[in-house]
Amino acid sequence: MSSQNDTPVSAQQSAEILRLTLPRMSQHNVPVTPHNYAVWYRFVEGSIPELSDEIQQMIDAGTPFTEQVNEALFERYVAECNVEQFQKIRGEMHDLMQDLSGSLQNAGDEAERFDGHLAGVVENMRQGTSLSDIKTLLESLIEETRAMRKSTQLLHEHLEAKSHEIQLLQEELEQERRRASTDPLTELANRRAFLEGMDKAIGQASASRPLSLLMIDIDHFKNINDTHGHLIGDRVIRFLAQVLRQNIKGKDMAARYGGEEFVVMLTNTGLRGAEAVAEGIRQAVADAKLVRSDNKQPLGRITVSLGVTEYLPGEDPVETVNRADQALYQSKQNGRNRVTVDGDLVRLRDNRA
Ligand code: GH3
Ligand code: MG
Ligand code: MG
Repeated sequence: MSSQNDTPVSAQQSAEILRLTLPRMSQHNVPVTPHNYAVWYRFVEGSIPELSDEIQQMIDAGTPFTEQVNEALFERYVAECNVEQFQKIRGEMHDLMQDLSGSLQNAGDEAERFDGHLAGVVENMRQGTSLSDIKTLLESLIEETRAMRKSTQLLHEHLEAKSHEIQLLQEELEQERRRASTDPLTELANRRAFLEGMDKAIGQASASRPLSLLMIDIDHFKNINDTHGHLIGDRVIRFLAQVLRQNIKGKDMAARYGGEEFVVMLTNTGLRGAEAVAEGIRQAVADAKLVRSDNKQPLGRITVSLGVTEYLPGEDPVETVNRADQALYQSKQNGRNRVTVDGDLVRLRDNRA
């Protein structure tokens, strides 16, 4: 047996040797068999000085690498190990590396480099390797695995910190988005969010899936403010918001359109259904017996006026809102605390037909 250099090869060195071996073999017309590959891998690696010298002398003298020569080189320098043990270790290492390779996918550049090393080792083993070479490869693998474990741990910690940061940012963004679309007093959607919601709902509206709108305004609200103050006025506004929430469902949307004026969008609801919802809201407000929280003094009767219309497919949503507003105006004109259904709608529909 020949003396060997047992210094472990690094991952890059190993990959580099693998890369250089095949061209050298083909340069000297050496068939690529597992035995020959094992011999030439060591020649390129330079780990067995005697082997390197012998091959170099043959190259210099132009001696052909015949089958007998190749086999003799293999016998002398490589095939000195217990075949059974060799196969066993090779199998175990192969499994280990397959496993590692599998679990290291997607772990970035570091993993890619490591994977390259593993692939090199697997290839090397497939070509046939001696026990002492396995020891060398194993040492280099352990070294690589340690470095890999450390770098994946750092990567993991880094990713965890980053994902936490991203989560916080997403929460902030979500809060900001909510703030921008919510009325702070009532926590209902604001006018902007309502118009956006209306735009979305319009896409799904059709003759068989009608979309209706209610416009709601508190009657003589100025009096409430004047009698009880703005804070109580605010509470009345919040009370109405609560009534609206209780009277809608699913994809419906209630919004504060401005001041003491509200709007409700009812999906999958025609004019008559919307009228019934409007009537329910009117009644719930009129029936409520509100008292001041500070001195329990009754606020007196609070009422709302409502206007109801239906979205006409293809129209600008602002038109729908305007018609609901017109109907609301009629309710005010006719004495308040009432629901008016948009009278123009029937005429507009007839014109379209
Ligand atoms: P009408 O029945 O015709 O609607 O009479 P009104 O008094 O309700 O209507 P008007 O438009 O004359 O007055 C609305 C009042 O609502 C005036 C405004 O100060 C008050 N208001 C608007 N927004 C708020 C708010 O956020 N809080 C309080 N407390 N008052 C508000
Ligand atoms: Mg009002
Ligand atoms: Mg008003």
